[in-house]
Amino acid sequence: MKRRRFLSHAIKTASAAVCSQLLPPGLRTFPLPQSAVPKTSSNTSARPQLALTLDDPTLSFGSILRWQEANSRILKAISDKGVKAALFVCGMRVDDADGAKLLSAWDQAGHLICNHSYSHKFYGEQTSYADFAVDFLKDEKVIAPYHNRTALFRYPFLKEGDTADKRDRFRALLKERGYRVGHVTIDASDWYVSQRFVDGLAKQPNAPIAPYRDYLIAHLLDRAAFYRQLALDVFGRDIRHTLLMHFNPLNAFVLPEVMSAFETAGWQWIDASLAFEDPIFRSQPQTLPAGESLVWALAKETGRFENRLRYPGEDDVYEKPKMDALGL
Ligand SMILES: [Zn+2]
Repeated sequence: MKRRRFLSHAIKTASAAVCSQLLPPGLRTFPLPQSAVPKTSSNTSARPQLALTLDDPTLSFGSILRWQEANSRILKAISDKGVKAALFVCGMRVDDADGAKLLSAWDQAGHLICNHSYSHKFYGEQTSYADFAVDFLKDEKVIAPYHNRTALFRYPFLKEGDTADKRDRFRALLKERGYRVGHVTIDASDWYVSQRFVDGLAKQPNAPIAPYRDYLIAHLLDRAAFYRQLALDVFGRDIRHTLLMHFNPLNAFVLPEVMSAFETAGWQWIDASLAFEDPIFRSQPQTLPAGESLVWALAKETGRFENRLRYPGEDDVYEKPKMDALGL
C-alpha cells in the first residue's frame, strides 16, 4: 500500500515540466529525421505490405540454444530480406551487460529500438495507472543508450487499460513524452507455438521442428489474411500492417521460412518506420477494455463487426485444441 501511494504521488508530481527534462536527448520521434527516411516510399507493387515487429528480446533460452545464436539468426533472417524491423524491449529481460550486447547488435543493424515497459505488466484491473506509468518510464533508461531508440510504446499483452480514466491518462502521458503507440495490426500467438515447441523438445529431444514451423506459418498467414480483410472492410483500403512476433526459440530457427512464406502469399516486407507512418497508427480507439490489434479495436469501435470479433483477439486457447489434435 505504502509503495503504491508513493508511486501515485511520484507520478502526480512528475508533471509535464519534470517529464520533459527526463526525455532523453535525441529520442527519435515522428516524423523521422531525413537520414532515416526508408527507401521504399510508396506502394507501387499493389501488394499488401507489412513490417516485422519483434517483442521481448531475452537472454533466457534454456538449453535449446544460446541467446547469441538466436540473436544472430533472427538478425540475419531480417537483413536477408533487406528491411528494418522494430524491436520492442521489455527492460527486465535484458537489463545487464549481455542484454546491452543483444540490444547493441540490433541498434547497429539499424532496427528501431522501442519501449515495451520494464516489467511487462497487464494494464487491467490489477495494475494502477501510477504503477504502469512508472514501469514505462523505467524502460526508457534501458533503451536510452541506443542511437535508434524510437518513441514508440507497445502495451504488454496489447492491453491499454480497463477504464476510460486509466486508458486516457496513460495516453496523455505518452503524448507528453513524445511517444506514439507501436500498434500491432496483425496479432497472433507465435509465442504459444514456440512454447509448445519447447515443451515438445523437453519430452522428446529429437522432435522434428518441421511440424511446428508449418503450424506457425499457417497460423501467421491465416491471421494476416483475417486482419487484412477486416482492415479493408473497416477502412476501405489496404493499410500498412505491423506483424507481432516474439524473440523466441522457434522463431530463431524458422524466421527465414516465415518471411519467405509471406512473400509467396503475396505480401511485401517493408521497413517498420515506413509502416508506422501510415495515418491509421494515429487513431485512438475509444473501446473498453482498450487494446488488442489496432484493426480489431477500430472495427470494434464501429459496432458493425461483432460477428467477426472474439475477445481476446488472439490467445493460446484458440490454438491449443488445434495443436493438441495434431499431436504437437
Ligand atoms: Zn510482450
